[in-house]
Amino acid sequence: MSKGIKRDFARRAAAAPVRRAEAVVDEARELLHKSGELSPGKAMVSTAITLSLGFLCLLAVVAFHYPQYLTTPDLRHKYSVDVLRQALLGGLLVAGGLSLANVILGRKRNLNIAAFVMVIAAVALGGSRVPVGAFPDHTPYIGLDWFILDLLGSTVLFVVIEKLFPLYRGQSVFRFEWQTDMKHFAVNHFIVGLALLIVNFLIHHAFGWLVSSKFQQMIAGIQFVPQLLLCVLVADMAQYWTHRAYHEVPFLWRFHAVHHSVKTMDWLAGSRQHMLELIFTRVCVLAPLYVLGFSEAVMNAYIIVVGFQAVFNHANVHLPWGPLKYVVVTPDFHHWHHASDDEAIDKNYAAHWAFLDYLFGTAVKTTKTKFPAKYGVVGDYMPEGFVRQQLFPFRRQKP
Ligand SMILES: [Zn+2]
Ligand SMILES: [Zn+2]
Repeated sequence: MSKGIKRDFARRAAAAPVRRAEAVVDEARELLHKSGELSPGKAMVSTAITLSLGFLCLLAVVAFHYPQYLTTPDLRHKYSVDVLRQALLGGLLVAGGLSLANVILGRKRNLNIAAFVMVIAAVALGGSRVPVGAFPDHTPYIGLDWFILDLLGSTVLFVVIEKLFPLYRGQSVFRFEWQTDMKHFAVNHFIVGLALLIVNFLIHHAFGWLVSSKFQQMIAGIQFVPQLLLCVLVADMAQYWTHRAYHEVPFLWRFHAVHHSVKTMDWLAGSRQHMLELIFTRVCVLAPLYVLGFSEAVMNAYIIVVGFQAVFNHANVHLPWGPLKYVVVTPDFHHWHHASDDEAIDKNYAAHWAFLDYLFGTAVKTTKTKFPAKYGVVGDYMPEGFVRQQLFPFRRQKP
């Protein structure tokens, strides 16, 4: 072999990993910008699983290293670290095994190499064995643990429900603008700490004078089930009027229009919400609950109810509700709230109890079609993309 050929060979060999890395980045970027049905038989489903699971495992290992900054104090006091370690190990095994199998079989090779590298990185950083020592409780933090757990749990639960009982059968999991709503989902979870901090501050400093311990004792003395029903009713009364204000006060509508701009309804659609709306609504709803002094068990149960309904009501689901639809808020009911059909504008405000809208005269009653013809804001003026939507309320509005 001549010297020139040798040099050329060595140069090409050195350039190969760089080329592969570039190909991986290009393919990952292309995949992240895509929407629509995953083409069958091309290992797209398993590749989507390996990539997202590999990425979440890597984030989880980082959260194990810095729990004081990356986990939610209210949550970490409740879950078992050992169970999370087992779950992380399971995630690493699934993502690692599946991506390796795809690489060997030559299916979406570059993307699966990327997923496998993330798994290796997670293991190299300690995997599920990162020791967690004592750490201070009052550090500023972002809720990375809440994001990982909720994303995994919600994806599994709601994608299964949507596939079993779909309203729109052909709707893809990766529908148009899923990327924007995933960013809303992530940011909402990261700022949960900030939201709770503001809520706590306001409740203790601004609403403290409203608290009457005698009255609180009376509320806390009510049995669990009636107390929970009352708690959800109080929360929904506050939510109903806050929500109605968002629709009827033009300045507030600018913020709430972000939530209404989603054109495809599914479990992820409810996450599209302006950050300030998220915080403001939380303060308005949680303040009366703290003032009334519901018990801790009831508040925990309420958080589960609100967490489930906020997602479920947007889901691409249709079930035979019967007369129950006049009592509780169902996906059918909230889908009409998101409709841009004439008869549905500024209607169906409730989040838990549908009867509130019948009581206050804002329920959608007669409709031309059984389900909305179109979702989104009338005039379709909301820009696409997370950052543009956060900036939208502050931009000069066209007359
Ligand atoms: Zn609304
Ligand atoms: Zn909604």
